[in-house]
Amino acid sequence: MPIGEPDARWLWENEPCRAACPVHTDAGGYVTAIAEGRYRDAYLIARRPNPFPSICARVCAAPCEAACRRGTVDAPVAIRALKRFVTEKFGVESFSTSAIWHEAHGPVPPADGPWVGIVGGGPAGLAAACDLRLAGHRVTIYEAARQLGGMMVLGIPEYRLPRGLIAREIEAILELGIEVRTDFRVGIDESFSTLVDRHDSIFLAVGTGCARDLALPGHELDGVFRAVEYLLNVNQGFHVEVGDRVVVVGGGNVAFDAARTALRAAAGENVDAEPAPTRGSDADARRGMTTTLDVARSAVRAGASVVTVVALESPDEIPADPEEIAEAEAEGIRILYRRGPHRFVGEGRVTGLETIDVESVFDATGRFAPTFVPDTESTIPADSIILAVGQAADLDLLDGGPTLERTPNGGLRIDDATLQTSDPRIWAGGDVARGPRNLIDAIADGRRAAASIIATSGQRPAPAPEMHLELRPGYQRIDSGYDAIARRPVPTVASERRIGFAEVEVGYDEADARLEALRCLRCFDNVMLSPELCILCGLCVDVCPTDCIVIARADSAGLGLASQSALLLDEDLCIRCGLCVNRCPPGALSMVFAKEVGNV
Ligand SMILES: Cc1cc2nc3c(=O)[nH]c(=O)nc-3n(C[C@H](O)[C@H](O)[C@H](O)COP(=O)(O)OP(=O)(O)OC[C@H]3O[C@@H](n4cnc5c(N)ncnc54)[C@H](O)[C@@H]3O)c2cc1C
Repeated sequence: MPIGEPDARWLWENEPCRAACPVHTDAGGYVTAIAEGRYRDAYLIARRPNPFPSICARVCAAPCEAACRRGTVDAPVAIRALKRFVTEKFGVESFSTSAIWHEAHGPVPPADGPWVGIVGGGPAGLAAACDLRLAGHRVTIYEAARQLGGMMVLGIPEYRLPRGLIAREIEAILELGIEVRTDFRVGIDESFSTLVDRHDSIFLAVGTGCARDLALPGHELDGVFRAVEYLLNVNQGFHVEVGDRVVVVGGGNVAFDAARTALRAAAGENVDAEPAPTRGSDADARRGMTTTLDVARSAVRAGASVVTVVALESPDEIPADPEEIAEAEAEGIRILYRRGPHRFVGEGRVTGLETIDVESVFDATGRFAPTFVPDTESTIPADSIILAVGQAADLDLLDGGPTLERTPNGGLRIDDATLQTSDPRIWAGGDVARGPRNLIDAIADGRRAAASIIATSGQRPAPAPEMHLELRPGYQRIDSGYDAIARRPVPTVASERRIGFAEVEVGYDEADARLEALRCLRCFDNVMLSPELCILCGLCVDVCPTDCIVIARADSAGLGLASQSALLLDEDLCIRCGLCVNRCPPGALSMVFAKEVGNV
């Protein structure tokens, strides 16, 4: 039973995890495959829409979990951790991926199509490169840093995302035959207009690498850093002297990345006599930072090393992920809520941060507009202060090039669907076009821009998935106690055993992965009613264990058919047990699921 585009949209909205994922990963599909022990299928389902499955399996913001319907019962399915379970078996971390990658993307055509220049080798640029190359384009990435990866390498700390893993996932993309110029800053090494003239199309994906400042008295003192610059330096192997007492200003994830990195770096400074690493390889970067975190914690206990996060928000308002906050607290980081920065104290070098109590963070319309309580100033002593108060794009590279329309706040104006700018040769996406977001948003933008460039240049795109509804005759779910299994905690290394920048989160073992996967409510299974067969006997209502089916008067159901009845199904309550389907005497109910033709 093929379904048309509107039906497909309807269906995707009935699968909230898939609808919420910017690249529409069939999370329910791979979670079910794991529950059934079909791990290879699971990997392929996760890999097909996303060239970074192993990276996303560790640090994706996981909008799928926020949308997961199981969250309304108890807690969402741990979809990201389940993805990691299969990438560890079949992803780049398994060292045996080339065959399965090939299977995921099919044959690579010769690069004889129009030449696309990509400015910025972060996730948006790399995802676009992958799709463009697979459509036969010649592709060159221009990257200002010495290595590709963007904020995956320059921003996200190594204890959350191992560097070898990023390198291998990028390598797998480059093996498609993509040209790369690193250490090449467009706007300096070559003008933007020359670049535009040399290529048929340009995709601008330069991210938001500029840290925002706080224009408070003392902001120019030595020892006041911006979080993105601080992380970029540490991640590239530069030694940044932060001292024993570090204050981080900000309540977002970047603030916690900076705080946890500073804690690890502070541990190195306290006890590690090795020379500080200078600009160099990953190995250099790790040198001098391998001191155990328990040393840092001892230092914290001895009062020698204190890392404090100062946030405007209350615990209920703070934007950082609860897991990040819990991990930071477990590592001994102190969080001061509802305190705002007022002044940087010191002469020449910073010695403290004067804070002031927060009255409110948002105004009546929900706009960010903090107000403070007068005469509540107090000073936190600090050897350094790291500001994590936002990022912006550096668009100076465009100077002298084609004029691109801007938004009122100075950003690039793009078509929301195609990502094309006001110049038909130039597309822009990822953080530079949307403001700081997440990896998966950047990947989706890269893919969207690639699809639009491919369409515009007349190349043949990879075939779009076609959705079909498939019947599940005699459907009967095996697990009767659908809510019996509680979310399996995602394992982490005990805080007293965390070594330097080593990864903190650990994957599920097979038993836990299978149990966690069984928690999926299988929203992709849908009860379908053939109204012409329904005799309104009500047996489906009687048999439903969650009372999600009701027979209502059609007029009260808003259908405008006075004195007729209608069968209503509450999709949110439905657990897809199939009892109603099996009970229905005239066979008016059936269980169907959405299947992408050509996929597993
Ligand atoms: C500290 C930190 C932690 C984060 N943690 C997470 C997380 O856990 N999960 C998550 O989903 N997201 C996270 N994010 C957000 C995520 O990293 C970004 O949303 C994503 O990387 C944006 O991708 P992008 O390709 O648009 O830009 P970027 O990743 O910023 O890549 C842009 C690239 O363009 C290059 N470039 C810039 N100017 C030029 C030029 N003139 N010429 C050539 N090249 C240029 C840059 O060097 C960079 O490599 C984090 C961000 C930060 C800063």
